[in-house]
Amino acid sequence: MAALRSAASSPQTAPEPGLTAEEAHPTRFWQRLSDGRVQCDACPRECRLNEGQRGFCFVRARLGDAIVLTTYGRSSGFCIDPIEKKPLDHFLPGTSVLSFGTAGCNLGCRFCQNWDISKSREWDTLAHSASPEAIARTALKQGCRSVAFTYNDPVVFLEYAVDVAAACHELGIATVAVTAGYVKPAARAMLFGAMDAANVDLKAFDDDFYRTVAFARLAPVLETLEAVAAEGRTWLEITTLLIPGLNDSDDEIGRLTSWIAEHLGPDVPLHFTAFHPDNRMLDRPPTPAATLSRARSIALAAGLHFAYTGNVHDPAGQSTACPGCGSTLIGRDGYRITAWHLAEHGRCATCGRRTPGVFEGAPGTWGARRQPLSVGS
Ligand code: SF4
Repeated sequence: MAALRSAASSPQTAPEPGLTAEEAHPTRFWQRLSDGRVQCDACPRECRLNEGQRGFCFVRARLGDAIVLTTYGRSSGFCIDPIEKKPLDHFLPGTSVLSFGTAGCNLGCRFCQNWDISKSREWDTLAHSASPEAIARTALKQGCRSVAFTYNDPVVFLEYAVDVAAACHELGIATVAVTAGYVKPAARAMLFGAMDAANVDLKAFDDDFYRTVAFARLAPVLETLEAVAAEGRTWLEITTLLIPGLNDSDDEIGRLTSWIAEHLGPDVPLHFTAFHPDNRMLDRPPTPAATLSRARSIALAAGLHFAYTGNVHDPAGQSTACPGCGSTLIGRDGYRITAWHLAEHGRCATCGRRTPGVFEGAPGTWGARRQPLSVGS
């Protein structure tokens, strides 16, 4: 508990050299406290800031008597990815997604694989300026069916993400959030209200793990999952990164998958992905493929209809089977679609059962390519 208190109650005290009014975008979720501090209410960390301080995420800061966003309109870079890489397996399969992030994160995961941008305090990582309209226009021009807020958590750049989403929707482009779901209810409603799909990390099913490894708490993430599933507007998938010896026991995976089945229903897809030693966690081995297969079996036994493995070569564990008749609906090898047996509206071509998700006729043909690109402002 000591580590969390320390992280949550000790905002960065870096001054704001060069922070101009133009760079300080207004935010909505904050309150003045009676002791003179201003509290950010975007996420459960509730950073309480004196003048000149930044929050734990480093990109929301106090300026005057308000909390501002310091990264609005700036990105760490753009890339076109397969939608399967988010990962989303039931949302416009085979299509390309224009992906981007900014800087900063409201969690402190020791195993973060995007550490350079998520914890960046170097503004030169945000070399790319892009208005919401420019991002939407670029997605359209490049033939991307969606834009993803990813690489770092959109909770910390909420206002920018929501404006980009509005510009995308104007042009018929869908929006995707890749997030840890560590967000307070009002901010959550604003973020997910603008998203057509989301992949939410459920990092473990143990509050101790969240506190000591991610510097966060489990309960707000479960609340987010329940709220998004109940609201039903945003297509939801979940990812759990399995780390050897930390969150990969049969017991924990059993509790996690049973909770999903009971609280979210059996049709929410769950992705088990492999850990690779990174960031400040170099003392753990990579996750064996057998661990992911074991976790998938536990999920299916718990009643989940769709459980997948990721970051390993496992075509069987990455393909979608019909819960009704068992036939293969979508074959995959990594991010590549190898078979397609869905009829109209995502119905099984064999038994006619409707597959949960967002399907638009034939799959896209983007394949596994990854294509960096620049977006004009
Ligand atoms: S979004 Fe950032 S500033 Fe706001 S409470 Fe969370 S970590 Fe603190």
